[in-house]
Amino acid sequence: MNQRIVIIGGGVVGASVAYHLTERGCRDVVLLERENTLGAGSTGKATGGIRAQFETEINIRLSLYSLDFIKNAPFDCEYDPKGYLFLAQTDKHRNYLARSIELQRALGYSDVYPIDAENIASVVPGLNLDDVVGGSFGLRDGFINPLALLEGFITNAVLSGARVRTSAEVASIGVNGGRVSSVNTSEGKLECDAAVICSGPWAASTAATADIDLPISPQRRQIVWAKNSEPLPEGLPMVIDLGDGFHFRPAREFHFGSHKTFSAHDVLFAYPDPDEPDSFNTEFDEAFIEKAYSKARHRAPFLVESEPVREKCRAGLYENTPDHHAVIGGCEVEGLFLACGFSGHGVMHSPATGRAVAEIILDSEAKFMDVSMLHIDRFQNGKLLHETAFI
Ligand SMILES: Cc1cc2nc3c(=O)[nH]c(=O)nc-3n(C[C@H](O)[C@H](O)[C@H](O)COP(=O)(O)OP(=O)(O)OC[C@H]3O[C@@H](n4cnc5c(N)ncnc54)[C@H](O)[C@@H]3O)c2cc1C
Repeated sequence: MNQRIVIIGGGVVGASVAYHLTERGCRDVVLLERENTLGAGSTGKATGGIRAQFETEINIRLSLYSLDFIKNAPFDCEYDPKGYLFLAQTDKHRNYLARSIELQRALGYSDVYPIDAENIASVVPGLNLDDVVGGSFGLRDGFINPLALLEGFITNAVLSGARVRTSAEVASIGVNGGRVSSVNTSEGKLECDAAVICSGPWAASTAATADIDLPISPQRRQIVWAKNSEPLPEGLPMVIDLGDGFHFRPAREFHFGSHKTFSAHDVLFAYPDPDEPDSFNTEFDEAFIEKAYSKARHRAPFLVESEPVREKCRAGLYENTPDHHAVIGGCEVEGLFLACGFSGHGVMHSPATGRAVAEIILDSEAKFMDVSMLHIDRFQNGKLLHETAFI
């Protein structure tokens, strides 16, 4: 417990690792963040969705654990279980949803259901369902405030002895005799017994300084914020077209501190643009507004009269791996651990990830949940995972 553990990156994942390490009694935990505030990376840009409706067992388990954590956390994550409604336009997609529901239910997600067009219309009145053949609805899925989650983790970690340094950029990881020996920052060298890479979309370059080849690529994701003339349907869940990934949800702003400010007229919509190249570009592109509107007009005619709120539209980075699953665990360098590559699901999976990393460091393996299939080795030995609900 006296070992010094350095966490690189002050997003929600680094904060969760700090929380879970200090909860286990580690006192010499230092979190380094290069920006002057925490949450300035992808965490502060996220949509705030949480769902257990995935295809692979590991993603479902990570979500179910995290949903329970969030519901019972000793701090308020602003969990709002409005549900996730997936819409299928083809029999192939409907069958995919049915298969996934079977697995989700077998793993303990009892309140996820197939739903037909008639019931979809009663959950969200006003949708265009002409091309919809069915769907799925998960009642425990919904929304959280990513910054409230981050704040809850880090406040508790600091109260238990963790130290946080902002404006501290990690330049390299020192390795001596195959073991981590230090983390070298803009402020100088910090000797340590273990280091955890939680630097999100920038994780590959952090890992490269220790000669670890981490296949994580950054990709811009954009979100349109709009104000609707009419109030949105009451209880609007996250609505997702499975075919092209178009999705929308009631909008809300995320801040540190609890600000439950909702407006019945504000809505977010987005979709994964297939033409988006890998890059670190986080400029919002005005042209995306019209592209997203063309999808919104088709699926949700009640959004036609909405007006984009340009100053609230935003872009952030997904951190994609080749199989769209996270990388969690150790690597060839002893004492160096990885918690990155969440491929757009890092907020919702941060509670389970923090616990898994703490157990891997302190007990050699995650005992509460098998996460061994997320080890970086899978990219060398060809044991990639398969998830199609990558939105
Ligand atoms: C538009 C959008 C919508 C999303 N919606 C959702 C959603 O609904 N639900 C969900 O679960 N996820 C969502 N995500 C994904 C989610 O935001 C990320 O998976 C998650 O935030 C990853 O957290 P992180 O802590 O690993 O990374 P980040 O939040 O990016 O934190 C990494 C930190 O490391 C710091 N850093 C980088 N390099 C260095 C260095 N050399 N030295 C020191 N510090 C460094 C960065 O400044 C940054 O603060 C979304 C992402 C985007 C872009």
